[in-house]
Amino acid sequence: MRTAVVVGGASGIGWASARALAADGYRVVVADLNGDAATARATELGDPHRGEVVDVADESSVATLFETIGACDAVVSCAGFSTFGPIVDLPVEQFRSVVDVCLTGAFIVAKYAGRHLVDGGSLVLISSLNARQPAIGMSAYCSAKAGLSMLTQVAALELAPRGIRVNAVAPGFVLTPLTEGAALVPGVVEEYVENTPLGRSGTPEDVAEAVLYLTKAAWLTGEVLDLNGGAHLKRYPDILGHLTKLGAP
Ligand code: NAP
Repeated sequence: MRTAVVVGGASGIGWASARALAADGYRVVVADLNGDAATARATELGDPHRGEVVDVADESSVATLFETIGACDAVVSCAGFSTFGPIVDLPVEQFRSVVDVCLTGAFIVAKYAGRHLVDGGSLVLISSLNARQPAIGMSAYCSAKAGLSMLTQVAALELAPRGIRVNAVAPGFVLTPLTEGAALVPGVVEEYVENTPLGRSGTPEDVAEAVLYLTKAAWLTGEVLDLNGGAHLKRYPDILGHLTKLGAP
């Protein structure tokens, strides 16, 4: 049976990806910062799936995860979070904490995935519309995701000799626990939808479908797939502008 590891798999896009991979016949390891949540998700999937704790910001934690699992066929790297604040006010530690998880964390996952994936395996990273579309107040997240898109291409070159394909999905706005706060600001989702040719935000299942495709696409590597209803053709919502209208500092 093929094994898939979904890092950041207990919530949102990662959880939808774990379900899609399980339905495709993989034995799924749901790995997340919250080990109890990961185990609960694996229990929902049933036998032979399992949950593991991992912190992508800690290399030894990621190394232990992959050593425990052994050889795997597909790895999906979903862990991520964002902070919000203008550059002139943003504490450096907040900038670093986002880069630590979204970029350095993805590098660490790629490092150990590269060691443990079987020849011909697949690594899928989750980038973002913000890798190419700047958003006021999101310097750390945008910078980290832009770096992640380039990391995808470098990893694709380095792992191609073993037939390992490395691709990324770059989703637009998807309602998950990560975006709950932004979605509560009146006008933000509306502005996203106004600037999205297909006229809606995404679902975790939309992204999971693309993740599954990337695990199968035998002649595709180094690709960063824009998945956003066409939003990359227009502009990102002005979250700070909407917050200012609310009277937020
Ligand atoms: P989510 O529901 O918050 O899921 C993210 C998961 O990553 C959570 O389970 C979280 O655990 C886990 N995580 C956070 N830090 C971690 C760490 N250091 N080590 C291991 N796991 C960690 O968010 P999501 O929206 O599904 O996001 C998944 C990915 O998609 C992220 O990389 C995000 O940047 C990207 N993305 C999301 C959107 C969107 O609109 N939602 C758009 C573009 C890209 P805790 O909950 O315990 O912290």
